[in-house]
Amino acid sequence: TKWVYSFGDGKAEGESAMRNLLGGKGANLAEMSNLGLPVPPGFTITTEVCTAYYENDQTYPADLKDAVKAALEQVGQITGRGFGDSQKPLLVSVRSGARASMPGMMDTVLNLGLNDETVDALARDADDERFAYDSYRRFITMYSNVVLGVEHHAFEEALDRYKDGKGFSLDTELGAEDWKTLIQTYKKIVREEHGSDFPQGAEDQLWGAIGAVFDSWMIPRAKKYRELNAIPESWGTAVNVQAMVFGNMGDTSATGVAFTRNPSTGESALYGEFLINAQGEDVVAGIRTPQDITEKARIEAKSEKPSMEKAMPDSFAELTRIYGILEKHYRDMQDMEFTIENGKLWMLQTRNGKRTAKAALRIAVELAGEGLISKEEAIRRIEPSSLDQLLHPMIDPEAERTVIATGLPASPGAAVGAIVFNSEDAEAARKAERKCILVRIETSPEDIHGMHAAEGILTTRGGMTSHAAVVARGMGKPCVSGVGSIRIDYKAGTLTVGGKTLKAGDMLTIDGSTGQVIEGEVRMMEPELSGEFAALMEWADTHRTMKVRTNADTPTDARTARNFGAEGIGLCRTEHMFFEGDRIVAVREMILADDAEGRKAALAKIEPYQTDDFVELFTIMSGLPVTIRLLDPPLHEFLPHGDEDVKEFAETVGVPEEKIRARLKELKESNPMLGFRGCRLAIAYPEIAEMQARAILTAAARAAKDTGKPVTPEIMVPLVFTKAEFDIVKAAIDREAKKLGETVEYQVGTMIELPRAALRSGEIAESAEFFSYGTNDLTQTALGISRDDAGTFLGAYTKAGIIPADPFVTIDREGVGELVRISAERGRATRKGIKLGICGEHGGDPASIAFCQEVGLDYVSCSPFRVPIARLAAAQAAL
Ligand code: ADP
Ligand code: MG
Ligand code: MG
Repeated sequence: TKWVYSFGDGKAEGESAMRNLLGGKGANLAEMSNLGLPVPPGFTITTEVCTAYYENDQTYPADLKDAVKAALEQVGQITGRGFGDSQKPLLVSVRSGARASMPGMMDTVLNLGLNDETVDALARDADDERFAYDSYRRFITMYSNVVLGVEHHAFEEALDRYKDGKGFSLDTELGAEDWKTLIQTYKKIVREEHGSDFPQGAEDQLWGAIGAVFDSWMIPRAKKYRELNAIPESWGTAVNVQAMVFGNMGDTSATGVAFTRNPSTGESALYGEFLINAQGEDVVAGIRTPQDITEKARIEAKSEKPSMEKAMPDSFAELTRIYGILEKHYRDMQDMEFTIENGKLWMLQTRNGKRTAKAALRIAVELAGEGLISKEEAIRRIEPSSLDQLLHPMIDPEAERTVIATGLPASPGAAVGAIVFNSEDAEAARKAERKCILVRIETSPEDIHGMHAAEGILTTRGGMTSHAAVVARGMGKPCVSGVGSIRIDYKAGTLTVGGKTLKAGDMLTIDGSTGQVIEGEVRMMEPELSGEFAALMEWADTHRTMKVRTNADTPTDARTARNFGAEGIGLCRTEHMFFEGDRIVAVREMILADDAEGRKAALAKIEPYQTDDFVELFTIMSGLPVTIRLLDPPLHEFLPHGDEDVKEFAETVGVPEEKIRARLKELKESNPMLGFRGCRLAIAYPEIAEMQARAILTAAARAAKDTGKPVTPEIMVPLVFTKAEFDIVKAAIDREAKKLGETVEYQVGTMIELPRAALRSGEIAESAEFFSYGTNDLTQTALGISRDDAGTFLGAYTKAGIIPADPFVTIDREGVGELVRISAERGRATRKGIKLGICGEHGGDPASIAFCQEVGLDYVSCSPFRVPIARLAAAQAAL
């Protein structure tokens, strides 16, 4: 087996297609080398070595050492240096790189190969002693931390003590002699904390670092990240060993990160940050505040520090040239890491950049516009559920607000919550269902769970590419970073800004789109959807074959859904209308009535309201199809509960309390989900269905007259398991229609939500004119799992791999899906072209929508905010 793949000097053994074997970083380093871009030479130890390492009790394949040695020699030849050589030492970085990018999960070791001897060679070679010893002290702290497990703060404290003693405030004030002295202290710390001396042999250092990368694959924070992002453990990580280039060689050197397009907004322009005379992760760590890459960004940020464009025009031109090549080559926005050594630019990484949903949309649409990708590709590139981020509230621009500070707009969207200062408190808040904002000086990979739990994240340090910013954008969480004016006191649990002090638990609002930090709770509003959104939706609509309807019970829902492009209502639940205002009193009278006459009298009071409601819905939907479901829930849901309620209600309607209690007892069920509900109500009390049918038909006639558009209501009978039930209810509806004498056309269909109904669909379709799959109930009844009680054990089921996903979120294809398939086939066999739709929660879930496409449903129906998601998912399913 080939365990090691070399790259550099304009060629490589690997390429970007070999990502599984070389990891993302290694594959792209190889690809950039093949493109002839300036990449320091190096080699990649494959992910197969990682897998073999864990399969064989953490030991390496026998022939690995020789392969590494040969590859190192090749790097030495290209650079004219030797690994461990005391005259011309080759220094390397050891970098992890999994298949999927795992930001900040694995630590990189820089400057490896330095020891008491080679440090002097480096100093001679660069003619810069300070630089050499600065590199050495960085190496000792990094290596000791990552490989030997010595805590960072031991070194930091020593450094602070030294600086205090000398009256220094910045690291840059320390000279070669200072670092030399500190290195002695550092070595002592290593001896004390680690129990042996800092390794001097380059070979030992190298294998120590390689082992640490492989070991880090199994540390808890890496596992947690994999768990959250569904990355299999079996993938393993690769290790990249690469010749060092130095960004810390003085003012003509620098290190930085850049995106080919703005990852927050998607704007097409080079975007990023860099630091002069710095190395490696100084930018990401947020220790110093970085400088902007372009002059335009600098002006927008009102920064005093010069941009790269101004300070290093040649390197800027080179970066501009390279980013053009990379974006054309990868046909996507790139996230690049680079280092400038004495004026020469070197590329250290590129990958498809993470971006917000808003940026993803703009980038996809613009790439299609530029002809780099097709419209179909643009449609495929957008994760439908990510649209959710765009549809959610932002701060109402009109709202009063007390801005207490402004930071960087690191991840868009607004969030409100109580202040928490650590991730544990954030998790606790989430468990207690309290919204919180995680406020930190900076975040680290240990904070991932807290960031997940919080509504939004605020950091006082770090730029747009700091850990907090990158992770928050990936999660789609609002984040404001680098709010330098806020001081946090973790011990006291307070933050202070401009003389104001807020404590843990106080409410805070952050706006990740503007960077504003606002005291208290601010009013939110619906977002405006941008031009790219409309463009992509239009492309999606031309490819989609299924219609998208909405589940809407109220005029507000219906209007929202129409704005989002709903093509009708797939499910209007009429029970919600029974609770409106004081209609509930009449509804209760109806339930308490002793006979049909009494019920009819009470229903007569409700009928005008129902009619008006339906007129409004039909008017809003203006000729689009509307499916209305007859009353479904068990009657006791409408009755008062608790002594107080019963008493109050008895007084209002003048009925003895006793009578109400007796009726409550009668209606009480031990399993209401399988009890007196659905069409069973219509069969026992036909006057309810009759009233609803009259209201629907009258409303349809009225709305058609008002709007001038024909309305064909679809009346849906719930919870049928046999044709006989359906026929009885349909007959009642038809009778009412005849009595009304209105000339409105209407259809009567049913919800298929019981396994027996799915199986008997052939017969049911003899009378039913359409089917709508009520997959919530169908899932409950097919699996025998009550949705409301599933919480206690479903987690264990998915974790144990018994079921692939929560069946109430993504349709169980094999079971529930099979029932839908059978029903569709049998229904169509009886009634050619019978209209089929889905109105369960699954109608808004992309994976379930793909299933609906396979079965050939005519439409999906989902909640209003999911309509755009469904439109896009349906297009992807049809492509
Ligand atoms: P991560 O996966 O956390 O981004 P990297 O392996 O990309 O870790 O390393 C982090 C940073 O270290 C890089 O962005 C780069 O600045 C620096 N670095 C890595 N390798 C080298 C090298 N060979 N020469 C100079 N700097 C390097
Ligand atoms: Mg890192
Ligand atoms: Mg990197």
